[in-house]
Amino acid sequence: MIASPYSIGIDIGGTKMSSALVDTKSQSDDPKQLMSNFQELPTPKDSEGFIQTLLTLIERQREASPNVTAIGISTAGTVDTRIGKVMGATGNLPGIRGVENLKERLEAATGLYVHAENDANAAAYGECRAGAGRGMDDIVMVTLGTGVGTGIVMNGKMIRGGHFAAGEGGHIPLSNSQERKCTCGRWDCWEAFASGTGLAATAQKYLASASSEDRELFLAISGKSASDVHTHQVIEAYKAGNPLAKTMLDAWHQHVALGLRAVLNLLDPEAIVIGGGMAQFVDFPKLHDITRPQIHD
Ligand SMILES: [Zn+2]
Repeated sequence: MIASPYSIGIDIGGTKMSSALVDTKSQSDDPKQLMSNFQELPTPKDSEGFIQTLLTLIERQREASPNVTAIGISTAGTVDTRIGKVMGATGNLPGIRGVENLKERLEAATGLYVHAENDANAAAYGECRAGAGRGMDDIVMVTLGTGVGTGIVMNGKMIRGGHFAAGEGGHIPLSNSQERKCTCGRWDCWEAFASGTGLAATAQKYLASASSEDRELFLAISGKSASDVHTHQVIEAYKAGNPLAKTMLDAWHQHVALGLRAVLNLLDPEAIVIGGGMAQFVDFPKLHDITRPQIHD
């Protein structure tokens, strides 16, 4: 049998599970060329339904390409990649709780090689092999979304750490001032400032201390009351040229840069790849400027 160039890629999210055939031999960096036969199903809340949904997604790919040899799975949570056990951060994924040996179960059921990986790690490896970091051996991927995720590839290999929990860069502490509580229970993590939620909190702070004139100008554009201002309203006001929104977005860039500087100092990667829903609001030349250390003669 001729080895198939296709593997099956599966992404497990809190509300949906997606799968696609991935052309592992393709040199294209266009996801549309790399992936085909995109399939999607809701994420079940119970373990058996969860496994069954995975098997259904796999079967649909094998119908399209019978000779696939491997399955790669990305999921939220800390993943013990030896056995495919998902630990922690499973609040949104009750179905995966109690699945002790995902890798073994799926390999037994399908006869295919299975590898499960934390989603931020998988994203970093994907960018390194087939995306913005192609051709590089040392990259850090930073995902700016509702939270902040990071994944590290060094010397061409994933850095998973001693307990599979490396790359939790979103929880690098930025200060000791107990200003903002983080989702992890600690204070002032990078994520509490650099995420979309972080920008919204920054906006609230600026609105509270703004002059009534500046506040009214901002709220007139956003069409919301001060307590309802979130990321979307800041972006809309910024696009409309509102100076207070620009101040908020400038502060957010400074917060993003603080964590990036920690990453740069610790790991000296060839590139930091920035993705996630908030990446579209990044002013990259500005971020580059404030992240790089100032060099003096
Ligand atoms: Zn945290």
